This record gives sequence, structure tokens and C-alpha cells, in this order.
Amino acid sequence: MSLIVDLHSHSTASDGTLSPTDLVNQASTAGVDMLALTDHDTTTGIVEAVMTADPLDLMLIPGIEVSVTWNAHVVHIVGLGIDIENRQLQEGLKALCEFRDWRAVQIGDRLAQAGIEGAYEGAKALSNGRLISRSHFARFLVEKGHAPDVRRVFKRFLTHGKPGHVAGRWASLEDAVTWIHGAGGQAVIAHPARYPFTRTKLRRLIAEFKEIGGEALEVVSGSQSSDENQTMARHARDFELLGSAGSDYHGPESPWTGLGRVSPMPDGVTPIWQSWQDQPQIQSA
Ligand code: AMP
Ligand code: MN
Ligand code: MN
Ligand code: MN
Repeated sequence: MSLIVDLHSHSTASDGTLSPTDLVNQASTAGVDMLALTDHDTTTGIVEAVMTADPLDLMLIPGIEVSVTWNAHVVHIVGLGIDIENRQLQEGLKALCEFRDWRAVQIGDRLAQAGIEGAYEGAKALSNGRLISRSHFARFLVEKGHAPDVRRVFKRFLTHGKPGHVAGRWASLEDAVTWIHGAGGQAVIAHPARYPFTRTKLRRLIAEFKEIGGEALEVVSGSQSSDENQTMARHARDFELLGSAGSDYHGPESPWTGLGRVSPMPDGVTPIWQSWQDQPQIQSA
């Protein structure tokens, strides 16, 4: 029987809506054999996830999704199998979280100028004192009736040129890969079909990533169509990168994704987890 592998998911440590415990239990119920928790720019959910997975028949891979600015675009780099105690990684993530705190105040100010009061406080309350993401602003704006759903909030308020947009100042591609490698992990370009890039530009990103020593492309993603997965499989083969697969689950509010609901890896791409099965990466916290 083939393994159910899901190497991209979020908890309340970043912008997911399930706690690490609920996420791991739900993955276990869904029959997931290997789950990576990959919160945005923070590893604060990992210890809880590892402890919850410990008595279960589920391999928990400590992960991260690092926000990167590449050629003035935001790109996400997933790290898998990281040592969360690595100092350089944590210092890098701390800087990103400080930027997030500053940005949240700015977003609140800009929305206030557009006539929407209390957005910073509202988003902060929804984040439960943990990391603040644009997703928290989006949920606040939906609650207050400024748009019917999160997707439309992003379009109307939170993307480039819109009232609540603040340009990101994230890690460089090289920093992200270096932090992940320094922490003993493998680096993956997340959801490669989601960037607003031409084929040439995407291949430039992949080439640079490969040059820096990045290991894998998220060939199979819950946010990609099967045609997009096939296209990404061709890129992975061309650049001799491993393939990763993940749902990018953020919680039950997004019924179009599900934990472990990940298509099979296309032929000719080596799954990144193939080499892990002999050397389980489960680490006791
Ligand atoms: P941030 O890293 O705080 O800028 O927020 C990025 C997060 O917002 C992503 O990880 C997604 O979870 C979410 N997001 C971005 N764009 C959209 C969109 N168009 N619709 C819904 N969620 C989005
Ligand atoms: Mn997210
Ligand atoms: Mn992402
Ligand atoms: Mn993600």
C-alpha cells in the first residue's frame, strides 16, 4: 500500500485555524503516514505537533515555510526535517516576525485611512497573540462584512495597489536556503504554479534555487491543478530536483483542500521522502 504523505500544512502558530494538536489528530484520522507542519516564518507549533504525533502511527516532519522576496516578488520556500533549535534559523525567523509585527501596524493604519477602523486590533485578536498574517486581516474584514469571503478580501484590500497593501521585505532566496540547510533540512520551492511568473521567469527562479543548493520543487500541491502538477514535474525532471507534495492545508474552512488529499507524484520524479524511510526523522521534543 502506498504511503499518504502531506508535506505542507499550517496551524494556529501561523495562519492555520487548527491547533497543532488538532491538526495532527485530524491528519492521523485521515490516514496520513507522514505530515510536515510548515507554518509561515515560525516553528512555535512544532513541539506540540511532535508530542501529539509521538504515540500515533504518524511521522511528523518538523518544517517551516519561509517568506522570501525574489526579484520584487514574494516566493515561499519550505524547509523539511529542520532542527528547530538551530540558532541561525531562529535569528532569521525572528527578523521576519519583527517585520510582520511592524507590517501589521502599517496595514491597520492604511485600512483606517480607507475608513476601516480597528483592523489591527481585530487581526491581532484573531491571531491569539501569535504570528500576524494577512489571513488574520482577511478574516477580520470578512467578519465585519467588507467582503463576502477571504479570497475577495485579498483582491479588494490586501494585494498590490489596494488600500491595505504593504510591500514585503522578506528573506533573500539565499538566506532562506542557507538557514534551512544550516538547520539540517532540505529546501523546497512551495506551490511553484502560484507565482505570477512566465515560464521563463519561473525557470530562472528554479535555476537560481538549484545553483544555491535547493533540493526540491513542490510538484504536487493542493493549490495546483493536475495539469500544473504535470508541468512542475517536467521542471523538476529538467533541473534534476526531487519532488515534494503537500496540501497547504489551513483548516476546515477551506473545503477544497484536505489533509493528506494530495495527488500521486508524477512518473519520473523522485519523491523527497524516499530517502527518509530508512532514517526516520521523528525527533522527540
Ligand atoms: P502573509 O504571509 O501574511 O503575507 O500572508 C500570506 C497568506 O495569505 C498565504 O499564506 C495564504 O494563506 C493567504 N493568501 C494569500 N493570498 C490569498 C488569496 N488570494 N486568497 C486567500 N488567501 C490568500
Ligand atoms: Mn498561509
Ligand atoms: Mn505559501
Ligand atoms: Mn503554505
